[in-house]
Amino acid sequence: MHLLSKSTYIRGRQCPKALWLYKHRRELMPPVDAAQQAVFDTGHQVGLLAQQLFPGGVDCSPETPYDFGPAIAATQAAIARGERIIYEAAFLHEGVLAALDILVHDADGWKAYEVKSSTGVKDTNIHDVALQCHVIEGNGIPLVDVSIVHLNNAYVRRGALDLQQLFAITRIKDAVDQERLSVPARIATLKQVLVGEEPAVPIGPHCSAPFTCDFMAHCWAHVPGHGSVFEFSNARGKEWELYARGIHLLTDIPADETLTSKQRLQVEVARSGRPQVDRPALRRWLGELRYPLFHFDFETVMPAVPLFDGTRPYQQLPFQYSVHVQRAPGAEPQHREHLADATGDPRETLTLALIRDLEEEGDVLAYNASFEKQRLQELARDLPTHAPALQRIIARLKDLHTPFKAGWYVAPAMNGRTSIKVVLPALVPELSYADLAVQEGGTASLRFQQLFTGNYPGDVAQLRQDLMAYCGRDTYAMVKVLEVLGRVVEGE
Ligand code: SF4
Repeated sequence: MHLLSKSTYIRGRQCPKALWLYKHRRELMPPVDAAQQAVFDTGHQVGLLAQQLFPGGVDCSPETPYDFGPAIAATQAAIARGERIIYEAAFLHEGVLAALDILVHDADGWKAYEVKSSTGVKDTNIHDVALQCHVIEGNGIPLVDVSIVHLNNAYVRRGALDLQQLFAITRIKDAVDQERLSVPARIATLKQVLVGEEPAVPIGPHCSAPFTCDFMAHCWAHVPGHGSVFEFSNARGKEWELYARGIHLLTDIPADETLTSKQRLQVEVARSGRPQVDRPALRRWLGELRYPLFHFDFETVMPAVPLFDGTRPYQQLPFQYSVHVQRAPGAEPQHREHLADATGDPRETLTLALIRDLEEEGDVLAYNASFEKQRLQELARDLPTHAPALQRIIARLKDLHTPFKAGWYVAPAMNGRTSIKVVLPALVPELSYADLAVQEGGTASLRFQQLFTGNYPGDVAQLRQDLMAYCGRDTYAMVKVLEVLGRVVEGE
């Protein structure tokens, strides 16, 4: 019944080819993964909470996302009988479907509210709300005001949720009116795209902005999976400049090309196929580590809606850590760990265990330590009785990312990246995450949040084992990476 919707319009606004592929080659799209599903679920949960800011409305949600006919009819009927608040108000205008989260009629007239689970207004919000307003006004509903309802990240929960504080309402009518000037022409263009041949759009920066396109596996199939110019660290447009000149591989870059020193190093590594090592810098850094050495890693959850007193929207809450302790260089590590029981605020018991497990002497080594430092600072802020002990831990932090970030060890298999997930297989290929049920932090976070909210559908005891195995592997990986760096310095 409709040619375009808000989501297809936004897709086509980013790239007409993406719209065409979505309509004609849907099978090329990857399935929705657990992380995307979690984002959708969060959006739904936040949307329902925001409705309570405007209580007593009539809900016109469709029964299924594939049939908006009854929702459109319900919206028209609600307006006709004088309803003042309509949730999921659905409209069709010239083949374009739009469903608005909350439509309100008060003494001033009709007002549109779109709910976002973000903590502010983004340009893309203006784009999609402009389309919605075009469709709504096309139905003869003049809008006197238009706003985004979003989460307020300054809100700190105290007791029951205070919805007036949890949400902020930002007026965007002026920006929407400006954007609307281009909406009719865009709609006309996109309708033409749908009935035409597949548009010949080359890949470009638009493939990942504002959203990562669903069709990259299709359009980027000709780009080499390894050693391409898109692996440049800190590329700042250099990759596209080279690509436009037909240079797709790092090894094809001319010797006289202007590059940063890190990019030059990356090209040399790709050409030689061997690691580049700055032994003096590595030796100095390794020599400054103070033992006992505590290889340390946090896992966190970030609930959009604060679950506990004293927390804010999207605050990172540590729920788990792993520590491998080495008493001397090369010594067999001892393992210590903590995983919260998911029955309440995890921070107090986790902090007590952490202070005990990290002892008082020796460096605390993390990978990308600024993350751990920030979490420790937040714990010190929120649990002031533990602040002195936490500050002493912060003062002992060192970063295992440093040698890789600084370029003191660059291996071809790292492909210009330096996360532990890339560094580990490059340095310790026999140790990976492939045998684990939980293989990355996003999944760990998602699963633990499901435990918190009672929505985990599987075996809870098994999940707890899987989470501990994952976090433990992270810090054991650090032990093994450090071991390799030690051997490299010795020239082995
Ligand atoms: S991958 Fe890039 S070129 Fe291909 S459809 Fe998506 S945005 Fe367009």
